[in-house]
Amino acid sequence: MERVALTSFDLQLFQERRIADAITNYNIHVGAKISTLKENQRSAVKYLVEGKDCICSLPTGYGKSLIYELLPFLDTGCLVDVVVPLNAILNQQMENLLMKNVEIISESPAKDNISLTVKRRPSPTASGNSSTTPYDYIFHPVITKLKHELQDFEIIIIYCKSMQWIGYGYETARRILGTDFYAGDSKLEHARVVMFHSSMEKESGQLKNMILTTLQKPDAECQIRLIISSVALGMGADLKNVKRIIHAGPPTTLEAYIQEIGRAGRTGSVAEAVLYFNNSDISGQCMRKDMQDYCRNNEKCRRDIINEHFGFQTKEKPTICCNFCDSQLCIEWDFF
Ligand SMILES: [Zn+2]
Repeated sequence: MERVALTSFDLQLFQERRIADAITNYNIHVGAKISTLKENQRSAVKYLVEGKDCICSLPTGYGKSLIYELLPFLDTGCLVDVVVPLNAILNQQMENLLMKNVEIISESPAKDNISLTVKRRPSPTASGNSSTTPYDYIFHPVITKLKHELQDFEIIIIYCKSMQWIGYGYETARRILGTDFYAGDSKLEHARVVMFHSSMEKESGQLKNMILTTLQKPDAECQIRLIISSVALGMGADLKNVKRIIHAGPPTTLEAYIQEIGRAGRTGSVAEAVLYFNNSDISGQCMRKDMQDYCRNNEKCRRDIINEHFGFQTKEKPTICCNFCDSQLCIEWDFF
């Protein structure tokens, strides 16, 4: 029998071929059109093909799912564990899983294409404003812009902390938009503004599915331009065309915040995250100190704060970073 010794170059070519075949088979199987892998996806798959252990900590929307979705087509026989992407727990996870010689792939969760703005929202009794309720400060400018731009309006999710806020925002949109509330006949499937919350699962799972299906269409075919939502919207949904995330009040942790703003800019295009808060929002006991500090901060770059929280250093600031680095950022969403 002839023996063939593989050089490291041959081995590399063999692995490249194996990964390329896996991508082809994956595309055929799920009807995808993946032509190439991103750098960190390729590294992770390569380590697994080589039989190494690997921990992969990448931002929301990077494309982590594709790494493990490809594995059945590579027949690596490996086990994939999906964990909360916080660097502090990596060592603990490695010990629990008896992992040795681990390759770690990680990237800051603060995506460079998302600008970070934090604004204090006035209290309902603040003088000098024309709005009548605390909700109007958030909803009015957004819905008025939607009224002018209609299909050109870049898709926004407004995350609200209560059903009261969601309901008020929805009714405000109906009132301001009038007949423009629908892109066509007055049917729910033509609505430009939708509500999204956890009780929809029980009441109208069909409506929830219709909204998620519509949001995954190409931008020009998606008539939904504004989603007024609870935190129910997001996990596992690939919302490709969302350009802005507005928080009408902060979530309780920075981890939750990063997850939620990661739903914007998933195609890599420029996106915005605008967070509104007031003192009562951050005084509750369940609000973690890191989130309180992030809201109150007016001493340093917001991207630096997030990166440091997750154990990273900012390597290079994007041109549009945050409203500490650029005080003019997002002034169109100011109240006065
Ligand atoms: Zn900054």
